[in-house]
Amino acid sequence: MAEPMLLHANGACAPVRAVQVKGWCPGALRPMAAGDGLLVRVRPRAGRLSGEQAQGLAALALRHARPELELTNRANLQLRGVQAAQYPALLEGLRSLGLLDASAEAEARRNVQVQPFWTDADPTPALARELSDLLARDDAPSLPAKFGFAVDTGPHPCLRGALADVRLERHGDAVLVWAQGAQHGRVVAFADAAAAALALARWFLDFGAVDPGCTRMADALRRQTLPTAWTTVPVPPANDQAPALGPHAAGQLLGLPLGLVHARTLAALGQRGGLRLTPWRCLLLETGGPVPAWPELITASDDARLRVAACTGAPACEQAARSDVAPRALALALAPLVPAGQRLHVSGCAKGCAHPRAATTLVATEQGLDLIWNGTAASRPDHRGLNPETVTRLFQPFPPSHAAQF
Ligand code: SF4
Repeated sequence: MAEPMLLHANGACAPVRAVQVKGWCPGALRPMAAGDGLLVRVRPRAGRLSGEQAQGLAALALRHARPELELTNRANLQLRGVQAAQYPALLEGLRSLGLLDASAEAEARRNVQVQPFWTDADPTPALARELSDLLARDDAPSLPAKFGFAVDTGPHPCLRGALADVRLERHGDAVLVWAQGAQHGRVVAFADAAAAALALARWFLDFGAVDPGCTRMADALRRQTLPTAWTTVPVPPANDQAPALGPHAAGQLLGLPLGLVHARTLAALGQRGGLRLTPWRCLLLETGGPVPAWPELITASDDARLRVAACTGAPACEQAARSDVAPRALALALAPLVPAGQRLHVSGCAKGCAHPRAATTLVATEQGLDLIWNGTAASRPDHRGLNPETVTRLFQPFPPSHAAQF
């Protein structure tokens, strides 16, 4: 049985404003110590929870963690507030649900996002499972913690806006495998696509990541040229916006305000069917029947709560600035001021976990709120030391900024 490990943060990087960056990501077998207890991140295989797994996970959250689960922008579900004494029982519960890997290392490598709209005839879930299995093997490449794969082999790519380093997309009856940051890729048969994705990851380790600080494929491609075998087929343009909520052939896409879902809601959804996790803070429920009008589920794409992103902030996160600002409450309060097509991000510190992209951004600091009109949480602020009332005035009218991306 795998031994769980508990690690603490270390490492650093320096964008415009220095932020602390962990050299690893939490998992279930390697939880992270946070201000409110352990943070345990669950990575369901192929991005899917069966109905039974969803109900079981909800029951575990009610018993051993805070009742609200968080859907991350890499389509994982995390539990917060797990006390050390509760952790072994939680781990055992996850194991019995089939939600644990064989080791913390395998769990960390299995960083695979999956397009959620596959239907029965679609090879996407099988390809995602094959890639996950290869990544979980002992001989898999030892990739940086945030290095990830997007299995996006539906009729049209839908994960272009999601964070990934190696992308797999449909190309006729085959798969285009390409490196994030490249203009071209390589076409292989479906049966060879998982191995090809791993080969590209190995190239990154052997030749691309020449600088130990280089942890992402796009950074490597700014310094190193891909072999010609990987540059034969152009990468076609694709939409990078989140799909519309509502019915799809594979089920119903339901939004979660700020990515939060209460365990009771998760259990009730699991009673209706399986759930697929997305990077858009949405769940795809694999049944088409009516869903009760629960206020914590967003069913309309024009709901203003979809235009805001925020992290937990202080006191739950130890890295948050000492501040009275509750990022999530402030984001929801300001959401009605954010017009369609715009994005507001409220962050508990300059790390900007909830939305690592340009937007209108508020960052909590010990001196008040910093406002960045069009940048990330680490960008240089346009205003410093604001209070929520001043921000509310400045947001009327809300300024144009980068178009909303998930
Ligand atoms: S952005 Fe939020 S969640 Fe991330 S480290 Fe800062 S306070 Fe914590």
